[in-house]
Amino acid sequence: MKIVVLGAGQLARMMSLAGAPLDLNVVAYDVRSARMVHPLTQEVFPWDLAQAIEKADVITAEFEHIPDPVLEACSPSGKFCPGTTAIKTGGDRRLEKTLLDKLAIPCAPYQLITAQEHLNQGINQLGLPLVIKTCQAGYDGKGQWRLTADSDRDQLWSQMQAFLASGSVDTPRTIIAEKMIPFQREVSVIGARDRSGKVAIYPVTENHHTNGVLTLSIAKKEAKKEAVDIQAQAEAAFFKLTSAMDYVGVLAIEFFDVQGKLMVNEIAPRVHNSGHWTQQGTLCSQFENHLRAVAGLPLGTTRMLGPSAMVNVLGETFIPTGVLMTPGVTSHWYGKACRPGRKMGHINIVAENEKALGEKLIAIAQYLPEESYPGVARHGQYLVEGV
Ligand code: ATP
Ligand code: MG
Repeated sequence: MKIVVLGAGQLARMMSLAGAPLDLNVVAYDVRSARMVHPLTQEVFPWDLAQAIEKADVITAEFEHIPDPVLEACSPSGKFCPGTTAIKTGGDRRLEKTLLDKLAIPCAPYQLITAQEHLNQGINQLGLPLVIKTCQAGYDGKGQWRLTADSDRDQLWSQMQAFLASGSVDTPRTIIAEKMIPFQREVSVIGARDRSGKVAIYPVTENHHTNGVLTLSIAKKEAKKEAVDIQAQAEAAFFKLTSAMDYVGVLAIEFFDVQGKLMVNEIAPRVHNSGHWTQQGTLCSQFENHLRAVAGLPLGTTRMLGPSAMVNVLGETFIPTGVLMTPGVTSHWYGKACRPGRKMGHINIVAENEKALGEKLIAIAQYLPEESYPGVARHGQYLVEGV
């Protein structure tokens, strides 16, 4: 079966690797160069998008900021999963918030901003500090501002104005101000929904960000009462969102955990960085389950093989040998040119129990400098201590 993925980055690459054993053949559309490419080698194929759509059995996407003309080219084929509405909703915080409100799923209180009076309104109604985000085109914490002191209001407004002015009728630009949520931790849930509405959901993952970028994810295998409740809340949001969108494929939901109550931060209509641990931590990864869902195959197991973690490799060109010598540790490279802070690959770690996972994190942290791999040793220690 031929599957076209819109986007030719690491997520398409990992879908391609997961699809091969199932004879699901992934080709990628590089939106920037408007070329069809091999997702592993980036070799260019001699077909344009229209020909690729024609040849494809299924079309899917690895990111949500897809230009309208590309979506419009794919939509009429009836082959596109999870579909234009889901992709547009995930790519625009305004549409996302509207859907969350409609489904009564808790999220951070907010104010939409297209004029200065809306910013003033947001400050008055939500209070400071505020997290201010562009509704379109943000990722990895880019397109965000923090407003903590009222004296910065005017200076910040001039930056926001520049973004709003960059829009047009076809590419609207909106900003959202959110109340800064005093969360204890951030978690995400990833699951797949197939064409008949069956779902398979992975255990909730705890995520640690540094300067707005995910640096470490930990998926524990715990049967504590609070954990069961968190999983149930996350799954309830997953059911509501996927049913409302009649969603087919993998959907990721990021949450703030505020004293045991989950509040949605954002949704991603695709496979997600916080689910990379599923490559070794389960028998059927998020990449395989996404392909199974869109290809009309039965969903695979989401049961964990053991507590797992994922460490992002940002702006580095190699992983020290000592890391790979640690049992249960694997590395995944994306084959990209190196730039400071760029996601170059990730390291997955699987263990028999949480204490052993902590010990492995402490062991690999000896080789991974804290400034490039923040928190690996510290979170390893928490796991060893059972906190
Ligand atoms: P990514 O694509 O990596 O998920 P993003 O650019 O889409 O990131 P968000 O997930 O919205 O942006 O925000 C990045 C991080 O900023 C969050 O993971 C969280 O740590 C922090 N953050 C965002 N919104 C809020 C908020 N309302 N209150 C507190 N912290 C926030
Ligand atoms: Mg996010």
